Amino acid sequence: MTTTNSKQRKFLVITGGVISGLGKGVTTSSIGLFFSDQYKVLPMKFDGYLNTDPGTMNPFEHGEVFVLDDGAETDMDFGHYERFLANSANKQQSITMGKIYQEIRRRERHGDYLGKTVQLIPHVTDLIQEKIIQISEEQDADLMLIEVGGTVGDLENDLFIEALRQLRAKVGSENICYLHLTYVPIPYGVNEQKTKPTQQSINLLQTKGIWPDFIIARCTETLTENSRKKIALFAGLTEQDVYSGEDVTNIYTVPKGYEEQGLIDNISTKLGLPPLKKERYKRWQELLAQERKGSVKIAICGKYTDLEDSYASVVEALHHCSFHFGTNIEIVWLETSHTINKEILKTLDAIIVPGGFGNRGIEGKIEVITYARENKIPYLGICYGLQLAVVEFARKVCNIKDANSLEIDPKTTNPLITMLDEQKKVVNLGGSMRLGAYEAKIKKSKIQELYKKLKICKEEKEECIVSERHRHRYEVNPEYIKIIEEKGLKVVGYSRERELVEFIELENHPYFVATQAHPELKSKLETPAPLFYGLVQAALEHRKKEK
Ligand code: GLN
Repeated sequence: MTTTNSKQRKFLVITGGVISGLGKGVTTSSIGLFFSDQYKVLPMKFDGYLNTDPGTMNPFEHGEVFVLDDGAETDMDFGHYERFLANSANKQQSITMGKIYQEIRRRERHGDYLGKTVQLIPHVTDLIQEKIIQISEEQDADLMLIEVGGTVGDLENDLFIEALRQLRAKVGSENICYLHLTYVPIPYGVNEQKTKPTQQSINLLQTKGIWPDFIIARCTETLTENSRKKIALFAGLTEQDVYSGEDVTNIYTVPKGYEEQGLIDNISTKLGLPPLKKERYKRWQELLAQERKGSVKIAICGKYTDLEDSYASVVEALHHCSFHFGTNIEIVWLETSHTINKEILKTLDAIIVPGGFGNRGIEGKIEVITYARENKIPYLGICYGLQLAVVEFARKVCNIKDANSLEIDPKTTNPLITMLDEQKKVVNLGGSMRLGAYEAKIKKSKIQELYKKLKICKEEKEECIVSERHRHRYEVNPEYIKIIEEKGLKVVGYSRERELVEFIELENHPYFVATQAHPELKSKLETPAPLFYGLVQAALEHRKKEK
């Protein structure tokens, strides 16, 4: 027993081997799904890099920055955790080595280690374990899912691995188990599953003192009996402890694969838990089993479009809608840094301009917005997509020819999108950002109807209150609101505490809506984000009309 509490907490550690990008986050989340309706499941992610968080990293390298309610900037894995576990994570669940060192340095300067030599072992490894125990107690978790980013053998991960080895003695071996996710390639020309990299990865983990209880081997096909046997032999496990992680096109089907192979029941037995009820899982299966008819084509515009991971949550939010409407959604990645392909535009049923930063591709995005507005193509603007919709409208409809955002042209005489005075004083990168969940009040409008329909708002008289996450620096300039509203672009939602523009919609258009927030971050399979739901509904209607 580790904890001061009488509750017996359980721990599952997930490491990766051979290569990164095997989907540890999806695996962790998929396992969590089965426990989430009976237990308080708390995922935690350890990353070896020295950045404090992924907020300042290039999304090309690192994928989407996933913002939590408390404003923490985490990575895509937190998106999977929240979507599969249907809960909200917080800052302390995302730990980078940068954060650990910062804390060690702070404690050392503060005199907490007075007289001692501050060392990687035990001070750093103790701190890592302290973080785990502390949050598990604070949140009163039943099951901690601890994922180590990257792969075993990365030098930067060694202290996490060592801390997690030590954790076993601290929490009792009956309360912890270790799962290792690896890769089995089938080299071209050989056409045979090769288990050697997996064997070596397991051995490497064992030399660091962790003997995995379960192995999942990712492969383009089902693991053969022979591969399982070999892996089991080298890992000192039985064949039942080796699972196939076959490639899938739809990540929501991953839990089913694990369930059918018995992994979930084996983990639960190993942790000494009674048989699971799996109710949420069963509800998922019903949703996923629905037949999907027809298809709509939706464009996502932007400069990072060649890296789909940058917009992972936008894509997921569309997937959620696709299950709800029983329709297929074909996503078109529209790069706006080059000349826009007009022929592609004509085939679209809806357009999304998602979040973004900087100058590149801006005029292309504005051109696409004009197309959506004039041709009554359903449009959803997210964050930058709201700001650019306002700029476009001011230029083309309100005749303010040089309307712009300060971010794009710091010298513009008509800053429709500006930085508010209080933000200008903040110098630390990230400090001037409006980050995390904020409440907004929404007037009677299409947007309000959607939030009410999906029941994720509080109703207050004529208005409804919603909470969405933010990650941006600039705001709609209050001085221009009257001008754009008079021409038909209405502000239908303001932030509760500061009267900042949060939601807009265009009159006399089937669906032209935008928000300063990132509603995609809260979309779930069970409850899609309302504005995406509205977009797909409008896209289906558009498709019907076109036929
Ligand atoms: N670049 C814009 C801003 O900082 C929008 C940010 C975003 O789309 N996330 O305000």
